[in-house]
Amino acid sequence: MKADKYIKNYINGALVPPLSGEYFDNISPANGEVYSHIPDSDQADVQQAVDAAQKAFKEWSSFGVEKRFRILSRIADIIEQNLETFAMAETTDSGKPISMSKTVDIPRAHANLRFFATAIMHFASESHFMEGHAINFTLRQPIGVVGCISPWNLPLYLFTWKIAPALAAGNCVVAKPSEITPMTAYLLAKACMEAGLPPGVLNIVHGYGPKAGQAIVEHPNIKAISFTGGTSTGREIARTAAPMFKKLSLELGGKNPNIIFADCDFDRMIFDTLRSSFSNNGQICLCGSRIFVEKPIYEKFRDELVKRTQFLKVGDPFSPMTDLGALVSRSHKEKVMSYIELAKVEGGTILCGGKAVEMQGQLANGYYLRPTVIEGLEVGCRTNMEEIFGPVVTLTPFETEEEVIQYANMVDYGLSATVWTQDISRAHRVAEQLQAGVVWINCWLLRDLRTPFGGVKNSGVGREGGLEALRFFTEPKNVCIKY
Ligand code: NAD
Repeated sequence: MKADKYIKNYINGALVPPLSGEYFDNISPANGEVYSHIPDSDQADVQQAVDAAQKAFKEWSSFGVEKRFRILSRIADIIEQNLETFAMAETTDSGKPISMSKTVDIPRAHANLRFFATAIMHFASESHFMEGHAINFTLRQPIGVVGCISPWNLPLYLFTWKIAPALAAGNCVVAKPSEITPMTAYLLAKACMEAGLPPGVLNIVHGYGPKAGQAIVEHPNIKAISFTGGTSTGREIARTAAPMFKKLSLELGGKNPNIIFADCDFDRMIFDTLRSSFSNNGQICLCGSRIFVEKPIYEKFRDELVKRTQFLKVGDPFSPMTDLGALVSRSHKEKVMSYIELAKVEGGTILCGGKAVEMQGQLANGYYLRPTVIEGLEVGCRTNMEEIFGPVVTLTPFETEEEVIQYANMVDYGLSATVWTQDISRAHRVAEQLQAGVVWINCWLLRDLRTPFGGVKNSGVGREGGLEALRFFTEPKNVCIKY
């Protein structure tokens, strides 16, 4: 299996060029160079994919869960056996450290497939007994052809997080990965072919969001859309899909609080706070970019975080020593830097970072930025309210529990929150009041794939994960039998 120079669409079981014959460049963020070419697919390619998916649906949906389990498990095995190839492709596309691709992104991708392959074997529906005269049962049937659209920050990890439950539940899929990081989705197509996935069950169409993505969203025969990406894109998708009465799952942006009380286990907290601030260059929707610290430990925390941040190694994504690789694109780096400038205008003090890293030699044109810690901002300023999605955190001291809950909840987002305290009553009180879909107490990014995952407010609609995803990708039908 190899990452080819010309990526192809995967339609009806075959790797095919876009019908228009048009491609655009795929750029490696590590060095700013074009290293492959991506199909510029349009409505015509999506139509072919939908036709293939519709044709495959009858057989796939009546295949039986065990056969679906076997094929999905085989795909998982192939990804695992090709870990090196997948990890290299993920790092080349995204600029993330190879250590992360090898230990997080790709292992999670095959875990997703295995998780839903096995989950479908145990998935059951309810029955409601009306004593003495009738029984209802809920038939959970696959929806038909569904659309899955994913972002660039955790490319194969999030792509498979949608595709696996959709396929396990018996749907056929038309999927589009981010045009910024398409290579592992291309390799996934090869893995599906090797695993013997029947033609048309999964179709992967590459291309731009407003063109190929929009064609998926507006296609009348695609009955559900599972989307992960930015809040403004989610709004656009809902505008198209909601009047068509499509089922919608939207996993959107975040601006997550990390709340640190003075009684926390300082060593554990500081270790995880460094991770939650700068993992994947802060390009994880769950990163805690607003750090609130109780006053008695504010200075100690600030000095320790800055010291540890300055030790982080920014550099070649392929070096095993690298902590932070390249940001995903030139335009994203510029966006992050514009927020650092905004923070200065808003009165913030840059405690460390704040600048691009000038690399030498082959990496000179890559998109590198020093991890940045800022203090002294008003809690409600734009830097503290808008998603930056980069290696930038802000520090704000607080005095009371009520005050910090108000700070945490004052943004339009509500994806995740982290709380550090040894006081179990306070942990429960605060978790209950935080407006977030996920709350971590004394940990961060500890994921159990069975749990519901998603956000409130502008962070999304619906939940992924575990049975929630299988419920999303099935239509419940109540059958009432009188006897
Ligand atoms: P994005 O919204 O720009 O793109 C996401 C996907 O949508 C891409 O595949 C893109 O091509 C496609 N797209 C764009 N416009 C479209 C349209 N009009 N119709 C259909 N598809 C369209 O997001 P991004 O920049 O790739 O990702 C970063 C964002 O994703 C951040 O806001 C981050 O918080 C969010 N995110 C959220 C989660 C979560 O679980 N809530 C996880 C990861 C990332």
